[in-house]
Amino acid sequence: MTNGEFSGWGRYPRATGALVCPAAPDRVHSALQAAGDGDIIARGMGRSYGDSALAATMLDSGLLDHYIHFDPDTGVLDCEAGVSLDQILRLLVPQGWFPPVTPGTRFVTVGGAIAADVHGKNHHRDGCFSAHVPALELVLADGSSVCCSPRDNSDLFRATCGGMGLTGMITRATLQMRRIPSSVLRETVIRTTDLAQTLALFDEHHDAGYSVAWLDCLAPTGRLGRSLVMLGEHDDTTDVLDLHRVPRLRVPLDAPAGLLNRYTLRLFNALYYARGPGQPTTRRVHYGSFFYPLDAIREWNRLYGRRGFVQYQFVLPREAGMAGLTLVLERIARSGHGSFLSVLKALGPANDNHLSFPMEGYTLALDFRVEPALFALLDELDAIVHDHGGRIYLAKDARMQREYVHRGYPYLDVFREVRMRYGAHRRFHSHQSRRLGI
Ligand SMILES: Cc1cc2nc3c(=O)[nH]c(=O)nc-3n(C[C@H](O)[C@H](O)[C@H](O)COP(=O)(O)OP(=O)(O)OC[C@H]3O[C@@H](n4cnc5c(N)ncnc54)[C@H](O)[C@@H]3O)c2cc1C
Repeated sequence: MTNGEFSGWGRYPRATGALVCPAAPDRVHSALQAAGDGDIIARGMGRSYGDSALAATMLDSGLLDHYIHFDPDTGVLDCEAGVSLDQILRLLVPQGWFPPVTPGTRFVTVGGAIAADVHGKNHHRDGCFSAHVPALELVLADGSSVCCSPRDNSDLFRATCGGMGLTGMITRATLQMRRIPSSVLRETVIRTTDLAQTLALFDEHHDAGYSVAWLDCLAPTGRLGRSLVMLGEHDDTTDVLDLHRVPRLRVPLDAPAGLLNRYTLRLFNALYYARGPGQPTTRRVHYGSFFYPLDAIREWNRLYGRRGFVQYQFVLPREAGMAGLTLVLERIARSGHGSFLSVLKALGPANDNHLSFPMEGYTLALDFRVEPALFALLDELDAIVHDHGGRIYLAKDARMQREYVHRGYPYLDVFREVRMRYGAHRRFHSHQSRRLGI
């Protein structure tokens, strides 16, 4: 057991707690018993940004990192929940298989990916991570282990996928991988002049394998929402199956508080935008740089300084996208709080899980350095998001107020009933679930 101060990837908020690492799935039961009466939550690689993986006792899945079986004919992988996507890529890319859904970092565990029901640049076509999980195993509050799937114990499955660890600890999962012809992607980059053009491009390319836009969130008036839209397809003109590189660069210390200010952010945004090609351009890139550009620098979260940062990610229904995004971007531009990275994606239809984030529409993720005036701005953005029928992503949230989780997640009561049915409400809580009254 390690006692100390912990945080999510945003390094805000920080909290003290005890980290316990069960050595095998059948040791989770005794870890639960030893933890006493305080709040317990599972923890993966700590890549959620806020306080969803923080509690008095955190059950770290780091030692549950074993593969159980892989069938190279069907692409079905059975593994423990602490296995990371990085590990999976190392095992499977050389054999021509790839995770069917991946977030923007490969340093997440299978358990964390299921608990947040993560989405990738292909949500509009392939849905969330859970759509490719035929079954999982979960340790409940009483220490018993239960198998669940869309058919068996489906109430538990629907609550666990996207349930942010609040039903129990996932110890094992079965995943359906996808075949890839090569480790290369054909990436097309298109520069747009404003939000309307950006959204129109998402529409036009709704059948692209992958799509994402990097947005200049500090663009001048009249150019709000200008972006570089990136489309991707696995390249079948080669059969090279090279692995991604191990990151060599690392941010060695916390950056000074003033490094990311409105002037440097404006400059960065403008330069990044200007780097985009005048004409749509297609090139071949490795999956590492297409899916995981940020993984190239270890501990990049230290660039935001000691106080940390908040990632603000919301989704708006398609029909409210243009109006809502315009209001949000205008409000941010007026505030002078810039975001280093602003990533826009088009999402496909919602699934049946009670707390999964995606809904058909547009999701925007922005990074803001923590400073006193930030929280009032984010409260204003929350109101805009919810007035337009949207919601905030729990895996990124560190500060949302209670009323918004109720407004944004209409199946929260169903989720709570499942938690009560299995006794999870008495054991599994994170700082986030306490803050939001889940
Ligand atoms: C650079 C970066 C890019 C990202 N890009 C995306 C993206 O494109 N799309 C997206 O959806 N997300 C994205 N994320 C968020 C990230 O994918 C999720 O937060 C994911 O849950 C992190 O996994 P983890 O293993 O680090 O889990 P943690 O952060 O440790 O935990 C996250 C949640 O999962 C629960 N949990 C973890 N392990 C288990 C388990 N074994 N059993 C039960 N519950 C568990 C925790 O209790 C907690 O509620 C990104 C994060 C970063 C840092």
